[in-house]
Amino acid sequence: GSILGDLPVLPLAESFALTAAYKTDSSPNKVNLGQGVYRDKWCQPWVLPSVRAAEELLHKERVNHEYLAIQGDESFNQKARELLFDSRISQQKNIRTVQTIAGTGANYLAASFCARHIRPKKVFISNPTWDNHYEIWKTAGPEITQQLYPYYNSNERCLDFGGMVKELEKGEENDVVVLHPCAHNPTGHDPTRDQWKSIAEVIARRRLFVVFDSAYQGFASGDPDADAWAIRHFYSIFFSDVSVSQKPLPAGMIVCQSFSKNFGLYGERIGALHLVSPPSVSTQGAFTHLTQLARAQISCPSLFGARIVNTILSDNSLRQTWEQDVKTMALRIRDVRSALRSELERIETKGDWSHIERQIGMFSYTGLSRQQVEMLKNQYHIYMLGNGRMSMSGLNEENVAYVAQAIKDVVE
Ligand code: PMP
Repeated sequence: GSILGDLPVLPLAESFALTAAYKTDSSPNKVNLGQGVYRDKWCQPWVLPSVRAAEELLHKERVNHEYLAIQGDESFNQKARELLFDSRISQQKNIRTVQTIAGTGANYLAASFCARHIRPKKVFISNPTWDNHYEIWKTAGPEITQQLYPYYNSNERCLDFGGMVKELEKGEENDVVVLHPCAHNPTGHDPTRDQWKSIAEVIARRRLFVVFDSAYQGFASGDPDADAWAIRHFYSIFFSDVSVSQKPLPAGMIVCQSFSKNFGLYGERIGALHLVSPPSVSTQGAFTHLTQLARAQISCPSLFGARIVNTILSDNSLRQTWEQDVKTMALRIRDVRSALRSELERIETKGDWSHIERQIGMFSYTGLSRQQVEMLKNQYHIYMLGNGRMSMSGLNEENVAYVAQAIKDVVE
């Protein structure tokens, strides 16, 4: 025998398993509301016009395929930083950037950096969250206790702000807290600006280390600045020069940035990690430890996505096209939210469906039970996550009535 044979068979990650099941389903009525990817109004993949234009420019340039530096392409890193923090903050010396393998790679690098060098006892992760947060922290920091903080109030269908803050109060110095700056996955509920201010206050008082996971900037509201508000707020009150004072500060901050959704570059695996230190604390040593880990994990990052993003963000007219592109996506999501809610109400589906329009981002946390989700799949060929998370972009004018009727049938 071999030790290999003793390993139990694990289930495939749910969203990938759903996509596979959807593909083999031969029903003409099938609807894919599983994987978190944008689809146009024909439910087809959409290459952003800004991305198409950048591809054509790059093609004409006849680029080569040499290795990047360990920290990635400096010009891309600068543009990524400016998009996230704005052009003024992004020049500050206490922010350093590494290019990563999309948002997942940034989260993994953040978790392994924290495990080694921040050494928290606990990592506070929202309940629920993007499933991979649990896997990433389990793999990169097995010795760190995962403390789930309440996030969602299922009765009121809103943020459980009180529960969240109460749990974070239990944090100790250098414990890590993972936060979604906008379009919380899977619930679609974000803190208000006042709530962010209170969350920041607790984090500073408990001297926690902040990890923001930004996967939907621009995609959420259509406005990249509005979607980055929480991150910029944390920067300006804790990490800018003017924030030097007697008040307690967080131990530090990492921002993970994905370009998968907001540039539609899913498979190109493009992202960045930004490390932020408190004012007058040098990032120099920490940055070398970060790049050492990046070297061990991937040696150096990938080229194509960085070239696309850099080309778009370096050119005024392409950037305007991109700003239009994110608005197009955010608007379509808003339209299908309203179409689904109206249809559910029109056919007098039992229950209150107003939360579908109150939520923001890629998903609706429908409130459907596991059993109802199972029925939707088996009887109606409608695929979504077992926790009731529905990816809104799988809906369009053609299928929204079918989906609404199916929901009505399973809730009655
Ligand atoms: N974080 C969150 C909250 C996400 O929803 C996602 C995408 N599903 C990611 C990170 C990572 O995405 P990617 O690795 O494709 O950039």
